[in-house]
Amino acid sequence: MIGEAELLAKVPTQLYIGGEWVDSTSGRSIEVVDPATGDVLLSIADASVDDGRRALDAAVEAKAEWAATAPRKRGELLRSAFDLLQERADEIALLMTLEMGKPLAEARGEVTYGGEFLRWFSEEAVRISGRYGPNPEGTGRMIVTHTPVGPSYLITPWNFPLAMATRKLAPAIAAGCTSVIKPAELTPLTTLYFARLLEEVGLPAGVVNVVTTSTSGEVSEPIIRDPRLRKLSFTGSTAVGQKLLTQAAQGVLRTSMELGGNAPFLVFEDADLDKAVDGAMLAKFRNIGQACTAANRFLVHQSVADEFAARITERVKQLRIGRGTEEGVGVGPLIDERAVDKADALVRDAVERGATLVTGGSRVDGAGTFYEPTVVTDVAPGSDILREEIFGPVVSIVPFSDEADAVTKANGTEYGLVAYAFTRDLARAQRLVESLESGMLGINVGVVSNAAAPFGGVKQSGIGREGGSEGIHEYLETKYVLTPDPFG
Ligand code: NAD
Repeated sequence: MIGEAELLAKVPTQLYIGGEWVDSTSGRSIEVVDPATGDVLLSIADASVDDGRRALDAAVEAKAEWAATAPRKRGELLRSAFDLLQERADEIALLMTLEMGKPLAEARGEVTYGGEFLRWFSEEAVRISGRYGPNPEGTGRMIVTHTPVGPSYLITPWNFPLAMATRKLAPAIAAGCTSVIKPAELTPLTTLYFARLLEEVGLPAGVVNVVTTSTSGEVSEPIIRDPRLRKLSFTGSTAVGQKLLTQAAQGVLRTSMELGGNAPFLVFEDADLDKAVDGAMLAKFRNIGQACTAANRFLVHQSVADEFAARITERVKQLRIGRGTEEGVGVGPLIDERAVDKADALVRDAVERGATLVTGGSRVDGAGTFYEPTVVTDVAPGSDILREEIFGPVVSIVPFSDEADAVTKANGTEYGLVAYAFTRDLARAQRLVESLESGMLGINVGVVSNAAAPFGGVKQSGIGREGGSEGIHEYLETKYVLTPDPFG
């Protein structure tokens, strides 16, 4: 296994524009910090508004040639990137653990998940098909074809530094679009490392450009409002997504919005409780609770609520807190001090409104931004923790009385990304497919993400889908052509 210092020495620290690694013109730098220790890992370029514009210039310049590149060639480049990623899996996993804090085993899982988007879209690149046929009147022939949407601006969050980048870059590359990607300022190293990998496999200059900046709003707005941009793909909070949609309205951009979640996790009286607890641990503690798909509200039938709470508490108490690089750690640090304050405030509010604190409930003293794995039960309606994304290792349990009550509670949020339900009753499961308002649903499973599936939400959780056969269409325009009847 590579040492930390040796790995960090391999990470580019400049901007990647038009196939060149270049300094920022701002004269500033971003210090990327290890959330487990508070130590600075690396100082990297902090892009100015001008740098952002230059990155878009490069994407625009490369646009025509990339759109005309054979789909097979685009697919093969993605496949080479997938292969090289496998070779570098240990390095990229360690890098994610260092900058984001997740336990190393989970970071390896993200390399697998993130890599799958490269493999999936390497296969989809050659399946961009259209259709041809007679019009209903028989007087003409209708052709439907798909073309790359054009230069795309991709904004990613800090919580899945690799997967959020590949989930956008792979379909853009496969579809024949050039792009500018802006990773989150808290975890930009993985994207820089990955851009170097794309360069190594021979991705032409300008197809992917990377800007890292501490002034995301200032740098992004001129790019989004530039008439040459045709597509905005954003993953992050609903509040920022709403702001960006307003900016994107000016150019009537194609948009993909992967926003916040408030996932309900339903446990019915007929559920297999062992499986429900296993699923709950995955749905809650993956990524230290910092996932848009994290179970945010455990809605449990009143007849099994105490039993479920007791079993999950037993498991939660066994979780080891520590730096993600240490063996056996299940809970790493939260991303920063603000995240700890938020989790803490939500737990306090719930307890003040009558919830029972069963375990945890405190920040951890010392270096790093750690919060104890926590369980609160009997959370009262109206508590902030039921309305807001916790984004931390906190299990919040609410009893329900029957299926109708469960569905009303589950849908009582403006979000609709994912839901989980544990039941052995097939008809009930089928009813839930239709009654739960979410873009994704896991039945008797605690993780649903898969590169081959359309990931995305309804309501204020977003617009569009990433992954699956749907994912590439986010980067394609549909063109309809009519010709006369060739025999007429
Ligand atoms: P965030 O909205 O603060 O930031 C996301 C990205 O937007 C970052 O790159 C950030 O630098 C950038 N940004 C912030 N303000 C901006 C502005 N004014 N203009 C342009 N860019 C701006 O979110 P976060 O804290 O990084 O991520 C956590 C959020 O992301 C949670 O709400 C989570 O649910 C959501 N998320 C959603 C999905 C999904 O697929 N639906 C996946 C992961 C995370």
